[in-house]
Amino acid sequence: MKKKILIVGGVAGGASAAARLRRNSEQDEIIMFEKGPHVSFSNCSLPYHLSGVIEEADDLVLMSPELFLSQYNIVARVNNEVISIDPDNKSVVVKNVLTGETYNETYDKLILSPGARPIVPKIPGIETVKVFTVRNVVDIDKLNKMVKKIDKKDIAVIGGGFIGVEVAENLREAGYNVSLIEGTDQILRPFDYDMVQILHKEIYDKGINLIVGDKVEKFEENKVVLSSGKKIDANVVVMAIGVAPETGLAKEAGLEIGQTGAIKVDKNYKTNDYDIYAIGDSIEVYNPLTRSMNKLSLAGPALKQARAVADNINKKSTINKGYIGSSAIKVFDYNGASTGLNESLIKVLDMKINYGIVRVILSDKVGIMPTSAPLHFKMLYEIPTGKILGAQAIGKGDVTKRIDLIAATIKFGGTLEDLKDLELCYAPPFSTAKDVVNYAGYVGSNLLNGDYQQVNVDKVRELVENNAYIIDVREKYEYENGHIKGSHNIPLSELRQRVNEVPKEQPVYLHCRTGQRSYNAVLALQNLGFKNLYNVTGSFLGLSFYEYFNDKTTNRESIVTEYNFN
Ligand code: FAD
Repeated sequence: MKKKILIVGGVAGGASAAARLRRNSEQDEIIMFEKGPHVSFSNCSLPYHLSGVIEEADDLVLMSPELFLSQYNIVARVNNEVISIDPDNKSVVVKNVLTGETYNETYDKLILSPGARPIVPKIPGIETVKVFTVRNVVDIDKLNKMVKKIDKKDIAVIGGGFIGVEVAENLREAGYNVSLIEGTDQILRPFDYDMVQILHKEIYDKGINLIVGDKVEKFEENKVVLSSGKKIDANVVVMAIGVAPETGLAKEAGLEIGQTGAIKVDKNYKTNDYDIYAIGDSIEVYNPLTRSMNKLSLAGPALKQARAVADNINKKSTINKGYIGSSAIKVFDYNGASTGLNESLIKVLDMKINYGIVRVILSDKVGIMPTSAPLHFKMLYEIPTGKILGAQAIGKGDVTKRIDLIAATIKFGGTLEDLKDLELCYAPPFSTAKDVVNYAGYVGSNLLNGDYQQVNVDKVRELVENNAYIIDVREKYEYENGHIKGSHNIPLSELRQRVNEVPKEQPVYLHCRTGQRSYNAVLALQNLGFKNLYNVTGSFLGLSFYEYFNDKTTNRESIVTEYNFN
C-alpha cells in the first residue's frame, strides 16, 4: 500500500533516509522539510571553506531540491520549517520561513532528523563581540565573509572539540591570528591526556595561541576575558563549545526524551509514538562498551540510522548493536583517530573495569620509505579476557586504517589474540609486514602474560623528581643529542658487558627512543635474573611529545636536556 512519509531535516540523516525510502519503494510519497536554504550539504567539510581548500561555499552543497525531484522523485522543500506535530491526527504544521505562511501536511510515517544546534551561553558582554557558530553553509559563508572583511585579524575560537579545532586550523591556514580557548585541560576528549599532547604541540607549533584550562568569563569590545584574568584580542569570536540535540518539536508532541536530554528511541529508532521515528544528532544511542545511553554527533551513525529506519518502515529487519563512537580528525600535519573507550571516559563514568594499556610508537610504513613516520598508538584491553576496549592513534600517516581495524575488532568482540592473527595488506608504501595493530596484539599479550612491566610517559616526571634509576639504552650519540636529566646511558649494544652497572636493589626504568630497544633490554636483564624492571612505553620520543606543550606554556623546568621529535 502506498505510504506518505514526511521527513524533518534535509541533511545527513534526513536526506539519506529519503533516498533509501525511495530505493525501497517506488510508489511511496516522500516529502522532506528543511528549514535552511540547502539540503544535503557536507557539514563535515564546512571548516575547509575557511582556508580555501573548498573554494566556493556552493561546492559544499551536494544535492539540490531539483535533483531530488528529478532523480529520486523526492519532494525536498527548503526554507520550510516544521513547527509542530499533531500525533493524534498524524499531521504536521509547516511554516514557509520566507513568506511566513503556514500549512498542514498529513503523514503515515514521520521521521525526525533535525540534528543538534550549537550551544551559545549567555556569557556577559556577548553582545559586544561578533559571535559566529558553524552548523551549515549559511553560517560558514557568513563567517568567511566577515573574517575577510575585518581589518585586524585576531580571531578567538571557543571550545576545543572537533569543530573548534577544525575551524581554528583552517583560519590559521588562511593566515589569521587565532586563539583556541578550551576550558578543560585538553582539547579533543576522544583522546587521552597523554596522547593529545601530540596535537597540543602541533597546534602550538603552527602558531595558534592554544589556551587550555581557562574558561571564558566575559567579553569586552574585541576582547575575550578569561577566568585567569587574561585578555585575548578577538575581532571575531567563533563559539564551538558543543551542540544540543534539537528536541523542541519532539517534546511539544509528547515524545519521550531520554536521560541524556536527547530523543528516546527503541532499537528500530522508533519513538514512543508508533508512527514517528527519530535519528541522527537528535537521539540518544546505546553504547555497548559503557552499557549506557549517549549522545553521539557523528555522521556515520546518522546515515546508518537513516537506512535502518527506511528499511524498518518497509518491513525489512535490521540489526542495531549500538555505537562505540569512532572518529577521526586532521590537525595540520597530523592525523588522529579513536574508537571505543579511553582512560578518561572510564574514569568519568567510574566504570568498574580492569584494563591494561598498550602504548607503542611504531613506523607507519617501512622505515626507509621517504614518507615513513612514527605512529603513536594507545589501546585498552580488558583484563583477564584480553577483549579490546578502545584505541587511539596519532601520526602523520594513515591512522584511520589502524583505528578502523580496532573498531571492527571491538564490534566483533575480538581480543588481543585476534589482533595478532589479523592478516593485513602489506607493501612498503602502505605499512609494515607486521602492522601496528598486530604489534599491539603482541605487546598486549605479553603484558597480559606478565612477561614484563611498564610505566607510561606521564609517570616519568614524577620518577625524575624522585631520583628514580632510569637507564637510557640508546646509543651514546643519541643520548648526547638529548636525554632525561639524571638518566644513565647504557646502550643496548653494551648492555651485556656493562650489566654490573644495573642496580639490583631498586626499581630500574629503561627507555630508548620508542620503547622497542628498551623492551629487548628489559627481557635480556630479566633473563639474567634481574627483577623490578620497567619499560617506559613511548620512551624518549613519546616523552618529548608529552612534555613539550606544558613546558612551553607554563614556567616549569624541562626534565629533558633537549627534546627529540624524530
Ligand atoms: P544535520 O545533518 O545537522 O541535519 C539536520 C537538519 O535539520 C538541519 O539542516 C536543520 O536546519 C534541519 N532542521 C532542524 N529542525 C527543523 C525543522 N523543525 N524543520 C525543518 N528542518 C529542520 N561528523 C563526523 O562523523 N565526522 C566529521 O568530520 C564531522 N565534522 C563536522 C563538522 C562540522 C562543522 C559540523 C557542524 C558537524 C560535523 N560532524 C561530523 C557531525 C555531523 O555532521 C552530524 O553528526 C550529522 O550531520 C548529523 O545528522 P542529522 O541528520 O542528525 O543532522
